Amino acid sequence: MVEKRNIRKCTGKEISDFLEQQGEKAFRTKQIWQWLWQRGVTRFEDMTNLSKNTRELLDKYFVIKTIALTHIQKSNDGTTKLGFTLDDGQLIESVLIPSRDKATACVSSQAGCKLKCSFCATGGLGFTRDLQPEEIFDQVVAVKKMAEERGLIFSNIVFMGMGEPLLNYDNVMEAIQKITSEEGLAMSPYRITLSTSGIPEGIKRLADDQVRFNLAISLHSAINSTRNQIMPINKAYPLPQLAEAIKYFVEKTGTRPTFEYLLLKGINDSLEAAKALASFCRQFPVKINIIEYNQVEGAKYQHSPAENRDSFIRFLESKNIVVNLRHSKGKDIDAACGQLANKNQ
Ligand code: SF4
Repeated sequence: MVEKRNIRKCTGKEISDFLEQQGEKAFRTKQIWQWLWQRGVTRFEDMTNLSKNTRELLDKYFVIKTIALTHIQKSNDGTTKLGFTLDDGQLIESVLIPSRDKATACVSSQAGCKLKCSFCATGGLGFTRDLQPEEIFDQVVAVKKMAEERGLIFSNIVFMGMGEPLLNYDNVMEAIQKITSEEGLAMSPYRITLSTSGIPEGIKRLADDQVRFNLAISLHSAINSTRNQIMPINKAYPLPQLAEAIKYFVEKTGTRPTFEYLLLKGINDSLEAAKALASFCRQFPVKINIIEYNQVEGAKYQHSPAENRDSFIRFLESKNIVVNLRHSKGKDIDAACGQLANKNQ
């Protein structure tokens, strides 16, 4: 009995070598690759431009392992949460976020997360494992397919789902490589945003790798004691260390990162907090996304009142900082920022 290999773990060369050994034409690799990575087929018999013989041969020696879409939940605003079951039974979630005629995929990079940010439902799950490149890629394919079925243009990808992408660096980079390559989805890297809690070595590595996608940093406070309280990772990598990595990134890539700032009542929405943020931002060119807080079950935080939010934003703008106010979508299905926690499974 032949032990079947997962063909999606094979390189193009490995597939070509296999075909040659079997007396098949190596150029078939390109067709197989397109079926696997562009059209997302899950059965060899669906590779209709291959001969029956080739399909049977592939079926004898390989399997096509993909993640299984096991749960769909649609919000009143059209935002849709997709729950997937992985090969080993782990559960992860992605989100389709519609905006007019376009759709963005918010994807996960890990099953669970180690970092325990206090506002985040995923942090409360604990960490199970890193996602493989194809498990990340498959989320994008599934959201893209759903968007297209709804007549939406699939336009952007954000790594803001479960997990810290820079703690799964190699797999995330391999997935992005596949997403952006001509043999994959041929998406422009400028349409991809990787969001990190702020891992300095990871940010420097991105700079050294000269990435062309966008970088977002979940800052949430520019005061160390407050950030320690919201994001325990800040104790390991305090703000000066983070700032040094961001400077390095900006110098090397010439791009402007975005700071994500979740406004929490009485925690980080004061004028003092705005002043600290403005002063932190003086070190590099950045944009700030102010995000409204979504109440997570059992969380200790509250939504910042509109007057606090408005004066916070006005202060930053008075310092010539580019600020966008982001309203989270999908709140009624727990698909908004920081709410992914496999609740329905
Ligand atoms: S916000 Fe991101 S990094 Fe923090 S616990 Fe949640 S998933 Fe992890």
